[in-house]
Amino acid sequence: MTSEPLEAAVKNKKTAKKGTAKKEPKQTKLTKTEKEKQQLALEIVQRLKAEYPDVDCTLEYDQAWKLLVSVRLAAQCTDARVNVVVQDLYAKYPTQEALAEAAVEDIEAIVRPCGLGPSKARDISACMKLLQTEYGGQVPNDFNALLKLPGVGRKSANLIMGDVFGQPAIVTDTHCIRLVNRMGLVDGIKEPKKVEMALWKLIPPEEGNDFCHRLVEHGRAVCTARTKPYCDTCCLNDICKKNI
Ligand code: SF4
Repeated sequence: MTSEPLEAAVKNKKTAKKGTAKKEPKQTKLTKTEKEKQQLALEIVQRLKAEYPDVDCTLEYDQAWKLLVSVRLAAQCTDARVNVVVQDLYAKYPTQEALAEAAVEDIEAIVRPCGLGPSKARDISACMKLLQTEYGGQVPNDFNALLKLPGVGRKSANLIMGDVFGQPAIVTDTHCIRLVNRMGLVDGIKEPKKVEMALWKLIPPEEGNDFCHRLVEHGRAVCTARTKPYCDTCCLNDICKKNI
């Protein structure tokens, strides 16, 4: 069986509006507070777009299934380290078929530097096998199908839908959760799914994926976690609630 080349995935991305992917939750009537947050969100979206015009996923991949591998390895690990480790992984197992057939212990030996080696290796092996047996080597363009793949949660499924298939997506990683709380788009919500659901109400669907990539950039460069955020130089200084 063959795996899906990125070109095919990108083609899907361009035509994805007609696809079978997850629909973002229906817009229900907004409360006054939500309307105010929506206005704030729209302004933040525009300013971050001006600040970080070109954004992309910081995990490097050239085929859709490789993003599935990388996103699993990225749990509690930096994207930079994942990008290095996968080079070793694909040097030994260059195809999805080869990785599906690899022994879990051999995968673990390579991915160990990313941490959580046993569970990541187990998930990657099971996921590649399932892609081979159930999906003809293709990554499914369907949110719920993605959620059923081993090791794939809502964050990863959203990332795949947004980056591979060009569908609306809200990726609630650690940067997203920290920043939207600080900015006042959500109030003290830390649970990823609840943050995701709150943001679906505030962010235009077509902006969601890039907005989340911009939050990562902003979270690394300005609104940092380990140091005091650089509010003085932040492009959101006058509108941010600064819930630090
Ligand atoms: S003003 Fe400060 S807290 Fe608000 S987004 Fe900017 S750096 Fe973060």
